[in-house]
Amino acid sequence: MNEKIKEIYKQIEPKLTKPFQNIEEICEYNSEKVLNAFWKNKVSEIHFNSTTGYGYGDLGRDVIENVFKDIFKSESALVRNQFISGSHAITVALFALLRPNDILLSITGTPYDTLHEVIGIKENESSLKSFGIQYAEIPLKDNKFDVEKIIEFLQNNKVKLIEIQRSKGYSTRKSLSLSQVEQVIKKIKEISPKTIIMIDNCYCEFVSKKEPIEIGADICVGSLIKNLGGGIAPNGAYIVGKKELIEKCAERLTLPGEGKEVGPSLGMNREFLKGIYFAPSVVKNALKTAILTSAMMEYLGYETEPKYYEERVDVVQNIIFNNVEDLVNYCKGIQSGSAIDSESLPIPSDMPGYDDQIIMAAGAFTQGSSIELSCDGPIRPPFIAYQQGSLTYEYGKLGVQKAIEYLLNQKN
Ligand SMILES: *Cc1c(COP(=O)(O)O)cnc(C)c1O
Repeated sequence: MNEKIKEIYKQIEPKLTKPFQNIEEICEYNSEKVLNAFWKNKVSEIHFNSTTGYGYGDLGRDVIENVFKDIFKSESALVRNQFISGSHAITVALFALLRPNDILLSITGTPYDTLHEVIGIKENESSLKSFGIQYAEIPLKDNKFDVEKIIEFLQNNKVKLIEIQRSKGYSTRKSLSLSQVEQVIKKIKEISPKTIIMIDNCYCEFVSKKEPIEIGADICVGSLIKNLGGGIAPNGAYIVGKKELIEKCAERLTLPGEGKEVGPSLGMNREFLKGIYFAPSVVKNALKTAILTSAMMEYLGYETEPKYYEERVDVVQNIIFNNVEDLVNYCKGIQSGSAIDSESLPIPSDMPGYDDQIIMAAGAFTQGSSIELSCDGPIRPPFIAYQQGSLTYEYGKLGVQKAIEYLLNQKN
């Protein structure tokens, strides 16, 4: 079996030269962006030092935020290990910017699962809804923004904040490209210039040459155990955007009156810097692994999204299995192909923040890190596996080989 899969790899890899070249070019571009930010901000050994307690005068923390600010071409940045996750950073931003009676509008349909209780789509006594914040959503239409509905809604309502989730999350839709987002932002700003546009940028960083602030977004949020942590940051998240908005987020994360001035980095400055330094290359490896997976699974007769030759806007590769056994077996195979916890087998189970049972293969150095080779999916039709990562292409290739082997062996 092993040899058979290696043989198929040999046939398939030459077909991937073009998409790989494209990804390598983007990686080079983004590496230059990172290096320029390091030079401009004079990152030096002193910035590896850290603070404890209140975290006053944390030079490393401040330089990291300036590096992120420059990479995103934003006015300000908040990059903190006090963020538990990407969802936490989104939560902080929403609670920071919305007030009672304000309207929050999602124009990419129902947001990511963990935000349901945050918004109050699912009852929770600590939700935005419990504070009197109203919520509405407009689903995508044929994988595109429903511009007509958005315009109509904005003409009839005063919307404080619009959330745009670029990556698909656990939905069946496609992820959204920057040019699609750019066009819709232009339209929104024409009708409602004061509405804050917030981008959930999870999984999309460094996949393209531009980032959301450059195309008109006001604020943009992501996790450091995904793309920008480079597999090295052990936790944390970032928010970048307009200065006055970032100030508010900082005062929500810490406390009014202290904002960005406090927050000890607790020894993580070096890892955050090393993480962002590696991120362009790690994203490249994740994308190459995704493309290979797409081509392999298609060759074996499985449905994939995106296809290996399609433009990528995030690092997520879907395999649409249409049956629960294949989904579970593929995830088990990815787990057994990981470097960590390879002897464990994942099983579907309830997870806090998610409605359906979820299976998660995550044999990772960092718990829950999905820029490392990982594969997960909710147990509901059409039984889609959402695969992310691999810190290196070679480990990705080997992991996927193991997953295919496991999947096919279970069928025999
Ligand atoms: C991963 C992800 C998040 C945040 O997830 P955390 O696990 O909380 O970091 C939010 N939105 C999308 C689309 C995601 O993929």
